Amino acid sequence: MKLLRVDMSQSKVWWEPVPPIYEHLGGRALIAKILLEEVPPTCEPLGPLNKLIYAPGLLGGCGVTTAGRLSVGGKSPLTKGVKEANAGGTAGDALGKLGIKAVVIEGRAPQGSWSILHIHNDSAEILPAGGAQGLGTYATSDVLQERHGASSTVISIGQAGEMRLGGAGICVTGEGGQRSNHAARGGLGAVMGSKGLKAIVIDKPVGMSVPLADADLFRTAARTFAQKIINDPKLGTQGSQHLYGTASIVAAVNEMGSLPTRNFSNGNFEGADTLRGEYLREVTLSRGGEAGTRCMPGCVIACRNVYVDTSGKPIVGTLQFETIALLGSNLGLGNLDEVAQLNRMCNDFGLDTIETGAALGVALEAGVGKFGDFESIQKLLAQVGEGTALGRLIGNGAVVTGKVLGINRVPAAVGQGMPGYDPRSLKGNGVTYATSPQGADHTAGNAFGARKEVNPLGIQGQKELSLRLQIIAAMLDSTGLCLFARPPIIASPQLMVDMLNGRYGWGWTTEDYDRANRDVLRMELEFNRAAGLTSANYRIPEFMCEEPLPPHNVTFDVPDTDLDSVFETL
Ligand code: SF4
Repeated sequence: MKLLRVDMSQSKVWWEPVPPIYEHLGGRALIAKILLEEVPPTCEPLGPLNKLIYAPGLLGGCGVTTAGRLSVGGKSPLTKGVKEANAGGTAGDALGKLGIKAVVIEGRAPQGSWSILHIHNDSAEILPAGGAQGLGTYATSDVLQERHGASSTVISIGQAGEMRLGGAGICVTGEGGQRSNHAARGGLGAVMGSKGLKAIVIDKPVGMSVPLADADLFRTAARTFAQKIINDPKLGTQGSQHLYGTASIVAAVNEMGSLPTRNFSNGNFEGADTLRGEYLREVTLSRGGEAGTRCMPGCVIACRNVYVDTSGKPIVGTLQFETIALLGSNLGLGNLDEVAQLNRMCNDFGLDTIETGAALGVALEAGVGKFGDFESIQKLLAQVGEGTALGRLIGNGAVVTGKVLGINRVPAAVGQGMPGYDPRSLKGNGVTYATSPQGADHTAGNAFGARKEVNPLGIQGQKELSLRLQIIAAMLDSTGLCLFARPPIIASPQLMVDMLNGRYGWGWTTEDYDRANRDVLRMELEFNRAAGLTSANYRIPEFMCEEPLPPHNVTFDVPDTDLDSVFETL
């Protein structure tokens, strides 16, 4: 495999063989290692010394179900530490098939200069953006696919990334004109914008496949893995994940009193009934929309949807739980049509719906618009795309919005807005938000699925649970696997070891694999330490430790000593 390096300062691209220190790493693990080796930890995240890395997971391009996710990473302008965000679509598969272990962007183009990186088989070149700058991600993807072919993959930023806003994410296209895959979190779209890179276009690799060290071992393990998912009652064709998507948990999160409501002031939303996954499916299908669609070819779970308006015209594909929580209940909105419209605007501007929903909640609390008033919220969000002063403020995320508007009820940890579970009533997630080197991120170790195993309202067992989940998340993000496909691997780690050994011939044991997963967190914590993050950064905001959350009237009371010792046994 090889690395594609791009220096935006000199408009130069070159290929390098993969050095031995990067050989056994993929996705999130590779990002952590490259940051440690090549990026000064105290550098300015939007400056020329930061690097932006696009890396498929270790199983990218192999055809393993759900394993084609693309990891994007760099030093985050929000957390000021390591950041990895990943997306579906066709990029991870394409890079894997091309034998590209990572694309590493460094330097910074001169102010006002915008470029496209075009990858075609073994060649890569930097081209002028040619009028794509200034466009949202939908139009950017359309323009570039017209130019380079409808089967190409486009990785792009919208206006938010061009303005280098901290809430900016990166959009990745999928098959059949699909647009809504986002490596959303941590402000990586702003890092891409800071480089002067509007988009990457990858021509579809034709007739290429990855070499397999032991094809029988690999294929047997990959088939078993897919079959176990198909047989899983939650993930198979009759399962809630397939039928209702991630929104299937809206009712359960609301019932447990953890659904962010009106800037995290309640865990129970009175309008949750019309935000539920079951309702979403009913409305979608009755209008001629789609349910059970895929973000990448070959996924046997198919958890996505195409949400349409009353005339059957697509608004957004897909409408997901975190977006429903942050742009819905958190803003006092119980109408899916309204949430979908805000979702589309965020997607087009290239904004993280979680960070933006958290920032909007803070802004509404400051009186800049009203909870439950769609019109005032839509106008506020429109200002982000227009680049007004207020819009840029909100686009920079929850912490900046709170600081400027004088609100200290800011739902953020390690500089990043919180996802759709209030940590006071799901304390395992609170431990993850506070301690993960990735900041407040539900994909870094989500305790929702373990709520029957560890009491979500108690403090006992939370730090052990969080550590276990954080190690699993590091594995998923490094192999390119979708979070929802984890049950068979958790039940049988040997399955993953067999797929890796079949692909690479490493002869790994389950102990090697466990060590590799833990190493991801070790590297990330080391980078963050060197970047200056201390235990004072790894905390839940004070208001959540003091203000009881209805309906259970609980505070976040996991002791600091527990937070500080989560990684003691790593
Ligand atoms: S389960 Fe959903 S998010 Fe995961 S790969 Fe499949 S379609 Fe994409």
